[in-house]
Parts: sequence; C-alpha cells; structure tokens
Amino acid sequence: MILLTPGPVQTRPEVKAAMLEDIAPWDEEFRAFYARLKGRVLALAGGVAGRHAVLPLQGSGHMVVEAAIRTFVPRGGAVLIPMSGPMGSGLGAEYAQRAARLAHDAGRVVVDLAVPDTRAVRADELAEALERHPRCGHVLLVHSETGSGVVNDPRMLGPVVRAAGRRLILDSVSGFAGLPFSMADHPECDAVLFTSNKCLEGLPGFSWAVADLDSCARGAGQAESWSLDLSDLAAHARRWGEGSLRFTGPVQTLKALDVALDFLDAEGAAARRARYAANARILYAGLRDEAGLVPYLGEREQGPIIVTMRQPEGVGFDLPAFVRALKRRGVTISAYHTAAAPSLRVGAIGAVGAAEMRAAVAAIAATMAERRPSRAA
Ligand SMILES: *Cc1c(COP(=O)(O)O)cnc(C)c1O
Repeated sequence: MILLTPGPVQTRPEVKAAMLEDIAPWDEEFRAFYARLKGRVLALAGGVAGRHAVLPLQGSGHMVVEAAIRTFVPRGGAVLIPMSGPMGSGLGAEYAQRAARLAHDAGRVVVDLAVPDTRAVRADELAEALERHPRCGHVLLVHSETGSGVVNDPRMLGPVVRAAGRRLILDSVSGFAGLPFSMADHPECDAVLFTSNKCLEGLPGFSWAVADLDSCARGAGQAESWSLDLSDLAAHARRWGEGSLRFTGPVQTLKALDVALDFLDAEGAAARRARYAANARILYAGLRDEAGLVPYLGEREQGPIIVTMRQPEGVGFDLPAFVRALKRRGVTISAYHTAAAPSLRVGAIGAVGAAEMRAAVAAIAATMAERRPSRAA
C-alpha cells in the first residue's frame, strides 16, 4: 500500500522497527537519548541554544497549536488568523479555521483576515490588517495549508509582523522540513509548531514547539492549563534537565523519530524539499493530464506538500467509494475534502518518490475511468 495522506505519512521499515523495545522514560540512558534528540530538532528548526527551547508535547498537532495559543496569546488577547472566511464557515483554509476554533475555545479573541483558499496571504494585506486591528498582538499563520495545498511564506510575512511590532505563531505542522524556515531568522516568532509524523517522516505520538525562551518567560502562568503550558515545559527542562519528561509519553515514537532524522541527515534538507516538490509536480501534471482532473490551485500557488484536485463534475461522484476503490489498487489518499469546493487531496510527502507518484497517478487515473460519473445518465 502506498500511503498518500498528508500525515501520517508513509515511513521506512527501519523507522517503524525502532519502536520495538520497552523503555523506562526516567532511566538515565533514556534521558541522555531524549536530550540529544531535542538537540537534533533544535538544529533542524534553526534554533539557537540559549535563545530557543525545544518543547515536545505528547499528542497530535492540534494540541501543540492549542498549547502555543494558550501560552503566548494573553487571556483576553486577540490573534489575527488569515483564513478564507469567518470561523466555522466551512469555506476552506481548514487548518486556519481549526486554529481559530482552538483559540476561540481557549477564550482568545479571533480576528480573521479573509483570504481565498486558492492563494497565499500577501504581505500588503497582512500589513493593512495589522494596522486596522491594533489589538491583535499575535498573528497565527498556517505555513502549508493542508486543506488546499497553498503555502504562506513566513520569510516574506514574518518581517511584516516584526515591522508592526507583533508576534508570530507559525503552524508548520505539515510544512516543517518540507519548506524552508529557520527560527534564527525570525525574532518575531514565538514558536514554530510541527509533529513527528509529517515531513519528518516519523510516527505519530509527539508534537513539537521550537519556541523563543523570552516568549516562554512572558507566557508563564497564562495558559490556564498545566498539560498545555509550553512555558511550564521550558521551566521543567531548566529545572530537571533537557532529558526529563514531565509526563509519560509515547516514547517509542521518539526512537522512531531519531532513526527518521538519520534518514533526513543522509538525504539532506534541501534534497528532501526537492523530492517533495518533484513529487507534487508529478501528481499535479499527472492527475491533470492522465486522470483528466482539474487542479484546485493554479500552478504557481500549488505547494509541495499536498495536491488538491476538483472532483469531476456531474452527479454521483462519491469520494468515500472512490477512495475505497483506489485502495484496491494499492493507494490510500485522504478520505475527505477540506477545500472550499468538492475536491480530493493527495499527499506528496513521506518516504515516497517519483516511482510511487507515477504509480499513484496511474491508479487514480484507472479508478477514475472506472467510476467517472456518466453525463448521459
Ligand atoms: C496535520 C496538521 C495539524 C494537526 O493535525 P493532527 O491531526 O492534530 O496531528 C495542524 N495544522 C496543520 C497545518 C496540519 O497539516
């Protein structure tokens, strides 16, 4: 089976095999391993020792997004979120909408900057929105919008946030290691957020924040949650050492991540990004030309993480049935769509390359030919 969901992703057998051991998380050997792994993640994020902290949190990406909002946005404070319509509208930009819900439910004020989910946020409209909303001390930006495939570039937008004297929280859950970003270049950034199981090609279990230490200090006591307090995580590491876990976590997945990072080192960060970009190009052109599907995004807006195509028009296209039929041909894609229009999403990330992409295009084209709704009917 080729797994092409936008996380969890297909992983190498060696990564999965690394989990086959019983572990005492408070044992000194594990502590040394854990501290070293955090150092590897710091380097990957372009973090600087003494300026940035690596804060692993057991749980999925949503949890670290919520933790970052609670820790960095003051209670009663407002956060500007670029998304394609008001919260809960179902108008696409799914992950921005989810961040908005997390912020809203945590008692923070959400101000939306409406941007269609077919293009990235522009620097001028962000600058204008920040001017219009002086109460927004924070911007929450989704790096790669996994709901559509659009990429928002923090290298262009971060300086806008900085110039306005605001702070940035970067949800790079699907972008981290698949798109370039370095904390060292972004003093306006409170934290970059990601999980083990997307472009890092590890297994689900831990989510991560690489955070500014001064921001953690400023955020002390405002999370109103012990479990989701990143500031407390940073304080814990300072007090008990970088090898100390606060609470029991899925530690076997950390062993898997360590092996996944060996593969990332061997491949090289730039080569990994290039592989994903090539994967996405094969999917985009193949699904358009061989499967006859219409791309949801223009070629220039299409990012390297996930490729979205419109569902064929006409009555009767049934996505779950299509996904089931495609699985019989050995390919698993996302079983639901999250763009503003009926669509299907195919991941370009994970331990997959050109051969898997071509096989996926062929399988999708064949399944589509079998199931295309007939206009005659
Ligand atoms: C996957 C993802 C998340 C979190 O997903 P989980 O299922 O909670 O791990 C958050 N933001 C983005 C942009 C994502 O792609």
